Formats: sequence, structure tokens, C-alpha cells
Amino acid sequence: MPNSHSYDLAVVGAGICGLAHALAAARRGKRIVVIDRDAQANGASVRNFGFVTVTGQQAGECWLRAKRSRDVWIEIAGPAGIQLWQRGLLMIARRPEARAVLEEFLATEMGAECRLLEPHRLAEYGSGLRADDFAGALFSPHEIRVESRDAIPQLAAYLAERHGVAFLRETAALAAAPPRLTTSRGVVEAESIVVCPGDDFTTLNADRLARYGLARCKLHMMRVRPDAVDPRLPAVMSDLGMIRYLGYAERPAAAALRARLEDEQLGHIDAGVHLIAVRSADGSLVVGDSHCYAATPDPFAPAEIDELILDEFAHVFAGPRPTIVERWTGTYAWACDRLMLVDRPSDALRIVLITSGTGASTSFAIAEEVIAELYG
Ligand SMILES: Cc1cc2nc3c(=O)[nH]c(=O)nc-3n(C[C@H](O)[C@H](O)[C@H](O)COP(=O)(O)OP(=O)(O)OC[C@H]3O[C@@H](n4cnc5c(N)ncnc54)[C@H](O)[C@@H]3O)c2cc1C
Repeated sequence: MPNSHSYDLAVVGAGICGLAHALAAARRGKRIVVIDRDAQANGASVRNFGFVTVTGQQAGECWLRAKRSRDVWIEIAGPAGIQLWQRGLLMIARRPEARAVLEEFLATEMGAECRLLEPHRLAEYGSGLRADDFAGALFSPHEIRVESRDAIPQLAAYLAERHGVAFLRETAALAAAPPRLTTSRGVVEAESIVVCPGDDFTTLNADRLARYGLARCKLHMMRVRPDAVDPRLPAVMSDLGMIRYLGYAERPAAAALRARLEDEQLGHIDAGVHLIAVRSADGSLVVGDSHCYAATPDPFAPAEIDELILDEFAHVFAGPRPTIVERWTGTYAWACDRLMLVDRPSDALRIVLITSGTGASTSFAIAEEVIAELYG
């Protein structure tokens, strides 16, 4: 029961951001309780691709955090029983303008261990792509992929069993004022509190969060079952991703690519559609996504958005249209001017939001920084 213990740290939110903070504090030997209003993880952290993306993240802090977070995923995967299903990324350039972006990317520090592939070499990375239609591709060795709907519960179980982290589920946090966290089950005593509320901007510290102009981003996702998927294939992305992911989009050559895509795929751009396709253990692919921004996005998932995603899929993957076996949407916190935020209402209280679609890729590193600042 919450009243029977006092903790060094209370974490609100059992998504990847909250669990990452619990891990970073547990590694320092702290006594931790994690509070979440849901019975099991249900937010962005289990709705995503589980694609831990390094190449393509914005140069500088975000790219460095993604590299560190990828390393933490690898460190904990074995002990927590988390499978790494895929490694690496093929960034397909369907157009010469996209290839030019990749060439500029390769000349940066971030391109150091990546390589440019001619289309005829793509077969070495797996069959099933429309390689003859491509202008080239970039292979990045940095990425890993977890099945988030398994990995997040496994990470929580590891924290509980290995590090003694307490979990209070089906418990809403109502007010955070360390050393007291008021919850729907009573008061939890904790010296410090980290609030990782995902896309809930109003339950805790609404006055602080109102300053950041936050919105939610809604995404469409599908699981498809093609006739066959080569198990060698890394994660696959294509041209539309190069005008979204800042590591590419901030290269000068991206302007020409954007202009051509606006001519040829304006409907995709308007719906924020680009292609990510990652493979699961059963041979299905998780495919997405789209981006729709609003304070409260509507709960509907128009079929035409899914068709735009499948259209790009059909330009990249050979073969007949795959069977769609599952559809869902997800939302994450979004801000137009930052990828994440750490708010500091007091010495012992932090509010941490990932305000972009990068939480699976950067949370572990962000959490290490926040916990280091809290504990010195
Ligand atoms: C469809 C989709 C695809 C994505 N793909 C990727 C990807 O491939 N790679 C990548 O890096 N990122 C991806 N992202 C982004 C990533 O999933 C998010 O950035 C990340 O999951 C955010 O984690 P979080 O813990 O902040 O939020 P969440 O996972 O939403 O967790 C927040 C938790 O806080 C709890 N909570 C909130 N307020 C309270 C309260 N007052 N009391 C109790 N509990 C509370 C909620 O119940 C919830 O469990 C994707 C996101 C989506 C939606």
C-alpha cells in the first residue's frame, strides 16, 4: 500500500519514459515506486514500432541520446529477456533527389558507419524490395527493433524483480509536491518525484506545461502479413521519411527532394505519411505511419490515410498487396519547437516529456541525464 513505505523516488507514468527513469535511479540503488493509472501499459510506448532509431535523428544532442539509449536497450535486453528482432536500417532512395540527401548525410559525422548501396547490392540485405526502381539506399548498422507490446511489460517486470521497484497500477497521481505525491489511493511519500505523463498535459502541473504550447500527434499503424518477408531485411524507410527525420531533412539537398515530393505525393505530405516497416517474429510487418496534430485528436482512423501508407509500401516492397491483420492509432506529446522537455518546478521535482516521435529511441539517455541532475 502506498502509505506503508516511503521512497527515494516516485515516478509517475509507466511508459518508456517513466521506466527509463526508474532504471536510471535503480542503477544508483534508489528505492523507487512507479505509479500509473492504467492496469497495463497502454500509451504510445506499446503502440509504436519499437524502432530504436539512431540514423535520422537530429544531429547533436538527439543523435547522441539515441546512440546511448540504443546501448542501454542492448545492455538490458538479455537480463530483462527482451528480444532484439531486427538490426539496422535500409533507407531507400526512390528518387535521385533522395539519393543526394543520403550522399550529404554520409558526409556528416552521423554517416561514419553507414554506407551507400547501389540497387543491385540490395539483394544482399534481403529480397522482396523493388530494387530496380530505386536510385540507391543507405544502410545503417545502428538501429535495433524490439516488439514494444512485449518489451515494455518485460522491462517493468525486470525493474520489479531485479531492482525491487514497486508498481502502483490503476492509480492516478493527482498532485506532485515532494516529499508527497497525492494519488487516488492515498499519499505516497518520496524525496523526489519525476512526472512522465506522456500526452496528459492537464492532470499534473498543468500550469507549468501550458507554457510549452503542447499538442498531441495521432498516428495510424497497421500490422500486415505479406506472402513472404526475408528475415535478413533490416527496418525499411523511404523518401518521405527524409523530409520528416531531421537528420536528413536538415541537409541542404532535402529542399529539392521536398519540392519533388510536393509535386508527386502532396496527399502523403499533407497527411504526414511516410513509410517505416519493421519485422516481427511471426513474419508480419508493422507498417506506418501518419501524423495529425491537435489538442485532442479525433478518435477516428480514416481508411484513406491507411491507403496512402500502403501506396508507399507498394512502391518499396514487391509482391501483391499484403493482408492487413491489425490496425490501431496512437498519440504522443508534440511541440513545434523542441523534441523533448525537462521542466523543473522545484529541486526535487522534474516533469519530463518527449515532445516528438522519438521516445523509444532517446528515453534511456534523457533519464540518465535527469537522474544525474537530481542526485548529483
Ligand atoms: C504510433 C506511434 C509510433 C511511434 N514510433 C516510434 C518509434 O518507432 N521509435 C521511437 O523512438 N518513438 C516512437 N514513437 C514515440 C514514442 O512511442 C513516445 O515518444 C514514447 O512512447 C513516449 O513515452 P512516455 O512514457 O512519455 O508516454 P506513454 O507511453 O504515453 O506513457 C505515459 C504513461 O503515463 C501515465 N500517466 C499519465 N498521467 C498520469 C497520472 N496523472 N497518473 C498516473 N498515470 C499517468 C499514462 O497512463 C501512461 O501509461 C511512436 C509513437 C507512436 C504513438
